[in-house]
Amino acid sequence: HIRCHGVSKDFGGQLVLKDVTFEIRVPHVLALIGPSGGGKSTLLRVLGGLIAPSAGTVEVNSQVLAKVESGLASYRKRIGTVFQAYNLFPHLTALENVMLPLKEVHHFPDAEARAKTALSRFRLADHMAKRPAELSGGQRQRVAIARALAIEPAFLLMDEPTSALDPEMTAEILEVISGLRNEGRPLVLVTHAMGFARSIADHVLFIGDGRIIESAPAGEFFSAPQAPEAAQFLEKIL
Ligand code: ATP
Ligand code: MG
Repeated sequence: HIRCHGVSKDFGGQLVLKDVTFEIRVPHVLALIGPSGGGKSTLLRVLGGLIAPSAGTVEVNSQVLAKVESGLASYRKRIGTVFQAYNLFPHLTALENVMLPLKEVHHFPDAEARAKTALSRFRLADHMAKRPAELSGGQRQRVAIARALAIEPAFLLMDEPTSALDPEMTAEILEVISGLRNEGRPLVLVTHAMGFARSIADHVLFIGDGRIIESAPAGEFFSAPQAPEAAQFLEKIL
């Protein structure tokens, strides 16, 4: 359950989110869609507690998020995030990458076993000793997903999980995400891949120029978008 009320974000005088207000009752997969520079990643970072909004209230699972970044640390720990550039540590192996937050942040006594289980689940058992540079793009992405999920997050945030991948690897990640969806793991994702969004999302927020232009169930959004901006956007892309 996510609720945003009057959320704005100002970056050095540039208003990037403008009075964003919406309420979503646990859709399995919420997709943030819209033109480049519209504010999708910024909203995702606000939802993940990575940045505090300049104004407004964010509430996740009945918890009101702190208004300053320093107060967000404990919240942030319980959210799994997978961002565009994967953020894997290049000098660590896949196993070490997954283990690091389990040990250092969450102090799981069984960090190694947990990390191995998470990696095996994403068919990475044979690649655990490799560093990111020795993995394919899809494998790297799966390591990032395994790392995010190993902490058993309240929900998972993903920013363009397939943007750096070729069609085959995209299909692979799509499969991974479908699996998470079937488990009922709440997921918020930003994507430019409309086919992907259409096949996976339950609900869509169409974001442009820092505002929510349309909020609709995915089926309705993709078959009959109501806002002219959304219709134009889909027309151009599909
Ligand atoms: P894309 O589809 O290209 O990823 P987006 O919808 O994710 O775009 P954001 O990354 O949220 O867009 O950026 C929205 C606007 O905020 C852009 O104009 C961007 O330049 C600006 N912006 C984002 N982060 C910062 C920052 N840390 N400092 C200053 N401006 C920022
Ligand atoms: Mg973005």
